[in-house]
Amino acid sequence: MLNDIKAWEKLKDLGIEEWIKEKKENGKIIQIGFSYHGNTEMFCKILDDYNWDFCQIQYNYYDEHSQAGRKGLHYAKEKGIPVVIMEPLRGGRLVKKLPKEVNKMFEDYKIKRTPAEWAFRWLWNQEGIMCVLSGMNSMEMVEENIKTASTSKIGDFTKEEQNFLKEIVKKINEKQKVGCTGCRYCMPCPHNVDIPGTFAAYNAKYAEGFISAEREYIMCTALRRDSSAASNCVKCGKCEMHCPQKIEIRKQLERAKKELETPVYKIARGIIKLMKMY
Ligand code: SF4
Ligand code: SF4
Repeated sequence: MLNDIKAWEKLKDLGIEEWIKEKKENGKIIQIGFSYHGNTEMFCKILDDYNWDFCQIQYNYYDEHSQAGRKGLHYAKEKGIPVVIMEPLRGGRLVKKLPKEVNKMFEDYKIKRTPAEWAFRWLWNQEGIMCVLSGMNSMEMVEENIKTASTSKIGDFTKEEQNFLKEIVKKINEKQKVGCTGCRYCMPCPHNVDIPGTFAAYNAKYAEGFISAEREYIMCTALRRDSSAASNCVKCGKCEMHCPQKIEIRKQLERAKKELETPVYKIARGIIKLMKMY
């Protein structure tokens, strides 16, 4: 996992190039690559600095221009470095946590595809992508994803379909409060705050409504053995150094706390506390 050229240079100072060479010579490593969560400029610098066999980036229709982004993908392609895609569905958020207005847009569109299929086809439409990694929880998902990959071709997407996904992004942005992908690089918090859990509940308030958000927030913060609520945050800033999305975590946690730690939440937390005692 590299976030900027400095991290790579540090590894070089520690002798990683010799180490890779030795492991490759004795067959322990066949292909060497890196995963990446920094900006485009740093990504290109890392690509230029070593003879990589592949690289791995976060990329999906929502994150087209963040992190390595489309520019980074093109740069890797020009250099002949195959790209593995991670977070093609943004940690499942482009499927499970879409605002209802967005789901309706997918349902009403003349081409009938699931949100996952749209996201995968958008990727498979582009050159330079070697592999798309996606968490799958059932045989049905495996079959759907294989079918999508097998029937997608580079350049298949029409301009109209591209524009449709742009409209989808616009609608998601209208509803999204915090652009957290749930990657958990900011965790663990020394004060036990469940950062991605809080942001998921905070976003749910705008996408799915107050009841759904409170339920989610209670489950991820109050039902645990030790509270993991946003109000535990002491604003040390440790988490922000690790966030690939550059989220102002402290500021956003403060906002989330104000909106989620309502009297309803406090009563529920008190009851849960009492229940834990008996
Ligand atoms: S700023 Fe808050 S959430 Fe982040 S690590 Fe520190 S205590 Fe945890
Ligand atoms: S706050 Fe940042 S590091 Fe933490 S889970 Fe969200 S995107 Fe990842």
